[in-house]
Parts: sequence; C-alpha cells; structure tokens
Amino acid sequence: GKGKWNKFDEKDLLLTYNALKVLEARYLLKDPNTLRYIETPQMMFRRVASYLAGVERQYGKGEEEVKRIEEEFYKVLSQLKFLPNTPTLMNSGTRLGILSACFVIPVRDSMVTPNGEGIYDALRAMAVVHQQGGGTGFDFSELRPKGDVVASTAGVASGPISFMRIFDVSTDVVKQGGKRRGANMGVMHVWHSDIEDFIKAKTGQLKDVQLQNFNISVGVYDYFMQAVERGETVPLINPRKTRINGKDYEYYIVKARGYMEEEWIQEEILRELEERGGSVYLDESVIITVDEALAIAEKEGAITRWVNARQLFDEIVKGAWDSGDPGLLFIDAINRRHPVWYLGKIQATNPCGEEPLLSWESCNLGSINLEKFVVEREGRPTIDWEGLAETIRYGVRLLDNVIDANRYPLKQIEEATKKTRKVGLGVMGLARMLIKLGIPYDSVDAVYLSYQLAKFIYYHALKASIELAKEKGSFPAYDSRRYKDVWESAMPFDHLISIVGVEGKVSSDVKKLTEVVDRLDFDQLKAERIKHGIRNSTVVSVAPTGTISIIAGTSSSIEPLFALAFVRNVAVGKFIEIDPLFLAYLRKYELDDPEVVKKVAETGMIGENPFMPKTMRRVFRTAHEVSPEFHLLHQASWQQWNDSGTSKTINLRSEEPPETVERVYLLAWKLGIKGVTVYRDKSKSQQVIYFGIKK
Ligand code: ADP
Repeated sequence: GKGKWNKFDEKDLLLTYNALKVLEARYLLKDPNTLRYIETPQMMFRRVASYLAGVERQYGKGEEEVKRIEEEFYKVLSQLKFLPNTPTLMNSGTRLGILSACFVIPVRDSMVTPNGEGIYDALRAMAVVHQQGGGTGFDFSELRPKGDVVASTAGVASGPISFMRIFDVSTDVVKQGGKRRGANMGVMHVWHSDIEDFIKAKTGQLKDVQLQNFNISVGVYDYFMQAVERGETVPLINPRKTRINGKDYEYYIVKARGYMEEEWIQEEILRELEERGGSVYLDESVIITVDEALAIAEKEGAITRWVNARQLFDEIVKGAWDSGDPGLLFIDAINRRHPVWYLGKIQATNPCGEEPLLSWESCNLGSINLEKFVVEREGRPTIDWEGLAETIRYGVRLLDNVIDANRYPLKQIEEATKKTRKVGLGVMGLARMLIKLGIPYDSVDAVYLSYQLAKFIYYHALKASIELAKEKGSFPAYDSRRYKDVWESAMPFDHLISIVGVEGKVSSDVKKLTEVVDRLDFDQLKAERIKHGIRNSTVVSVAPTGTISIIAGTSSSIEPLFALAFVRNVAVGKFIEIDPLFLAYLRKYELDDPEVVKKVAETGMIGENPFMPKTMRRVFRTAHEVSPEFHLLHQASWQQWNDSGTSKTINLRSEEPPETVERVYLLAWKLGIKGVTVYRDKSKSQQVIYFGIKK
C-alpha cells in the first residue's frame, strides 16, 4: 500500500550516492509499460532473498524455516555485508533467468557440430548468455591456423583470430538488452601456430581497434616458462594435423583405454609421470607428458615451426606493456589445483580470470564486504572474526541456492553446472579494511593479513559446503578419493615473501590480530569431508567486484584504492569526488579545506605530498604508488587459499619499462598465481573496460 512508500527505511542510509545511481540505472525493476520504478533498493534485496530462500522448499524445508533463511539472506544483503554478482541482483525473480556471471563455452574446429560445439554453435551460446548479463570465456586453440586447408571446400582457413572478430562484433550487437555490455575472455595456448598473430591482436596499430570486447590471454605451461628461462626453442603446432586434435600437443596416450579405466592404474601412472616431471593431465582416460606428446606431434607432422621461447615471451611482454593485452593463464597451476581434476583439463577462464572452468560450466559469485568486519574493541579497531564466519556460512548457502534457482539458457550449461556445482565466494573492501586497521597496503603486515583472511574464508567456506552436503547431498561428480584438497598445496607465507624478496617482518600486532586463523584445523575438516561429502566442487573465487563494490560503497575486490580524490565530469559540470575515509582523516587533521582537496584531486594521491601528515601518507596508498611486487604478493596470498582463481590487475605507472612487465609475469608464475594481467597507466587512449579497477 501507500504507507510502504512513505515509510523511511534506515537501511537505505547505508547506500552511498553512487550506489543509488548505479542501482537506479540498472538494477531496480521498472514496469515494462510505464518505465516507472516498481521497487526500492530494500525491495530489491528482499526480492533476491526471498527468491533464493524459496529454493529450500525443493529440499523439503517447511515455511517457517524458509522464512528464517530468507531473513538471514536479507540481513546480510541489506547490511551490505555480502552481495551476489550482478546477474543475481538483476535477474532473481524476474523473467530473465541467468543468475551467474561466468561461463566457459567450447569451440571445436568445425562450423557446427551435432552436439552443438562448433564455432557457430559457440557464437549462438555466447549471444544468449550475453543477452542476460553473463560473461563468456573461450579457448580458440583447437581452430586450425590461418592458411590451412579446408577439406570440404578445398579452400583456405581464415584462422582463429578472424573468427574471434565475429564473436567480438556479435558482442557489440547484442549489448545485453541495454543493461550490460558483453565481456569475453579469449584464450590461445602458446603452442598454436597462430600464436604470434594472437599476441599482437590488440596492440600496436590494432590497439583500441580490434577485439574491444575481449580480454585476451596466452595459455602458458611450465615447460614454456622453463624454456623461457633457459632460452630454449619450443614447437608450434597445427592442431588439425595431430590426433591429439581437440586437446593440445601435451596429450599423449599412454595405455589402452580399457586398461586406463581401472582407477588405481590411472593413479599409479599419474604418480609415475609426476615423478618424471613435466605437465601431466588425465582427461578422458588419457595421460600425457610434454616429451611424449612432442614425439607424437612430430611423428604426425603437426609441428609447423620451432621458435625461441624467449622471443615469444618478449612479444607477449611488449604487447602487455603497450596495451594491457595479452595476459597470461598458467594452465598447469590451474589444473594442478583443480579439485575435480579427474573430470578433464581446464583450457580457459571467464572474462576476468577468477573462474577457470571446464567446457560449458558456469559459476555464480558473491563477495563479502571486508570493511564491514572492522569493529572497535577497547578503543582499538579489530576484526570481527565470528561475524565474518557467520556471513560466509550464509553466503555459501545463498550461492548454492543460485545453482538451483538459475534458469539455464542451454541444456549443456545446466548439465555441466549441476554436475560440479561450483560457487565462488570472494571479497571486496580489502583496501578499506586495511586503512581502518591502520595498515599500509604495501607492507608485509598487509600481505600477511591477506594470507590469513584468505585462509579463514576458505576454511569456513569449505565447512559451510560440507554442512550443506549433510543436508542436501554432495555435488553429483564428487569422488571422495579423487577430490583434491587444494589447501594441502598452499605455499607457506614465508616462501611467498622470499620468492619476491621484499624486506620486512610481520608485526606482533598483526600476528595477534590473526591468531584465530592459526587455530583452524584443516585435517579435521578433511576428515569431515570424507565422512559427509561436500556440496560444491569449488567454493571460493576472488572476483573484481566492479559494480557490486560500488553498491556496497567500498573498494573493489583486493585492489588498493585507485584515487583518494578525483574530478568527475558530468553533464552539468565538474565535481570533485573524495574518498569518505580519506575525508574523515582530513577532518581529523583539520585539513578538510577545499584548496587542499582540489590539490589532491589533481593526482589522486598524497604519498609524495610533504604537507600531509606522515601517518596519512603511509596508510593512503593508491594503486600506482604500490610496487608491482606488493600487488603480486596480495594476489598470490589470496590464490594460495583458493580452489578457483584470483582476479587482479597489476597496475603500473605509465613510465614503467617493459622489463617491469617481464618481471611481473615471471614472478606471477613462481608465486603459483593462476593468471596475471597488467595495466600500465595511460596505455590505452580510451579505456573501455567494463569494471572500475581498470580506470
Ligand atoms: P559485478 O561487480 O558486476 O558483480 P565483477 O566485476 O565482479 O561483476 O565481474 C565478475 C564477472 O562477471 C566477470 O569476470 C565476468 O565474467 C562477468 N562480467 C562482468 N562485467 C560484465 C559485463 N559487462 N558483461 C558480461 N559479463 C560481465
């Protein structure tokens, strides 16, 4: 009734001006005929909470219990402690049914195939996913290279990049019904004959011109990175010419299929191959190593050329320095730390890299607002670990319900997604949490806190998923013996620090602050998993939170602040926008003078400003003041306690030389990161990226 509209909701005060603007522009539902708003922000949170809690009925829950869960969901959402990804906020309870942000679609070397995996099948799948607000990733490595033969027409193949351009144009055309412009990840593995063209597809003269709706990444392997370090040559392969076609040249059949179906034999061979070194994958009962696969490819005449790995790497570095593309995906790290490795090899990720997925899988994300868990106790800021654990628990339940509430656009997507039930619980607001705790982003203390937070969140997310398994069963492809407990291979903190070689020790204050994490018993958790199973094959993932962090009014993901104050040009004039935490500090020091703010807005930072108090200069570190090493250390810390990926932009100052990119890419590999992207300030004329962190 009318009263509802007049009633003032205090929770709305939590929403910032920018949050309201974003919600108004794209999230709040409108009447399709009159185009008038039919909901307020609180009604949106209620819509999401009630729609997703409703799933519990499918599992035999009574109305009282469903209502209780709805209230818990509504509480974390409206308090901005946790937000699901954009499609869930936009589409829950509406006619558009996609609630997930991440999809990977296979592309086979054929126009169309009977099972819908050809090039134009993929194009169609992409269009329906984009229409509803999802992002798509593709591996184009199976496509035959440019100039190769086309048997059916005796013609000449145009190659993967020309097909990618069609995907790009289609993305422009679909424009997601006006709500979200499309986003794609295009991957090519480093062994492909056309790799040099791919590396240059978005740089030089093609910068700001070609494949503007794509992030592109080269899929690299340990063998390649080692060849780079040793200055060795590597072969380029025509995938059409090898019977390992459809995979990559690393695949090698070791034993007859029938024999391989015996599980213990698979494991034995796997162990043996691991001992011999090299990349090893098990896929459709096929095991391979680099050397063995190479021998096969050679015999089949699939090797087109040998190139110097170092030169190829230099080209990648040059491209990334020039335009931000290509990034790297570390295919070995991705597959080594994939809990359900036995289902096949992962070849690609979603657009921003936080979700390495098998063909046709989708994943829905949600992020915890870390800033909300800084509380005052005895006059000092500290972390509310219990509150955090509770929010994680409801976050995982909500994300798991999204899988059942989703209306999938294609049968293949539904099948693949329900088989593994991947969800991605991540974070936002790390930078602001650190500021509130008085810890500079570029300090060993901050990195340690990242490491400990990641560990805590991973532990509690796993625990929540095990609890859900007791209630609702494990994901269908769960195999208790083969499921890999990814936390077992987390690198120790000191190891990360020593790889990067930064100075400094963790303070006793921060050790004390995170003590609770040291008491977590992962072995006990594993025993529980073995006993009860687990509901989701992956549970965590660090997404960029480009828009949901604006709705939550916090800093994005695990990124440092981008600017403390900046000038925003809008139709009616110029406004200075100032970070509220920064403003609070200025007030404390009686520096909140318009002239001071204007000065800060010119550069957005204060690190070099001698008129600013030292404490402020140390704590308010922005993306370009933080060294690449500290950017990487944060990413690596979050990646250790994570069964999916960690999206992060390594922001560089515009004057950084290509050698910096080279160092970053090599370090990223050594730190066990699954994918890396750099962005050098001002390296693109217009920055069309759809999320905030790439300015
Ligand atoms: P949000 O904050 O809107 O929930 P993120 O910035 O965290 O989204 O991005 C998460 C994922 O959502 C991306 O990796 C990508 O898969 C997808 N995504 C983001 N922006 C778009 C877009 N404009 N169109 C399609 N998918 C997108």
